[in-house]
Amino acid sequence: MQYETKFCLNCATALEWMVVAEDSGDVSRLRCPACGWTHWGNPTPVLAAVVENDQGQVLLARNAMWQPGMFGLITGFMEAGESPEAGIAREVLEETGLQTKALRLIGCWEFLRMNQVLIAYHVRVAGRPEDVRLSPELVEYQWKTAQDVLCWPSGTGYAMAEWVKSKGEPVRFGAFRPNNANPDPDPAKWPVNYWEEDARFVVAPRLG
Ligand SMILES: [Zn+2]
Repeated sequence: MQYETKFCLNCATALEWMVVAEDSGDVSRLRCPACGWTHWGNPTPVLAAVVENDQGQVLLARNAMWQPGMFGLITGFMEAGESPEAGIAREVLEETGLQTKALRLIGCWEFLRMNQVLIAYHVRVAGRPEDVRLSPELVEYQWKTAQDVLCWPSGTGYAMAEWVKSKGEPVRFGAFRPNNANPDPDPAKWPVNYWEEDARFVVAPRLG
């Protein structure tokens, strides 16, 4: 559920749209007329894991709220007081019962609809494929090889695509997503242009 911020978190006065000079110029934001608190509305950090076992398979899970047939990565909110690395290891353990052995950052993507920023890791886990113990919020899981897996055009899907590519396999999009008329990747988002592959600095893509 999405909530709307209507009152000041500091003094509970009703917020108003107010224009204030910021570094980028005059900006209208919800601000508190009593104490000056500003509702910045910054994106919330969400952690995601491409979980790989010792057989080289990746773990996909279905959230209890999702339609049958739709699978995704393990994700969760970063909590106060933890690093993103500790956070994703915690989420993987909580949601799958699997212990993280090693991890590396894959990349970051925006998720505009939910005002989130996705920080995606490649996580190597200990244990056998059948050792998965799903948390109540997940109802189903499957292990897939890099040859078998299909990606999808959003941050978690691009993280998956990056993992498939790192295995030397061709990246294929088209995983089931309800109401998704276009399963193809956004050309501004995939393939990712890393600096070592392109001598120029990467230009930030325009959003929306
Ligand atoms: Zn206030």
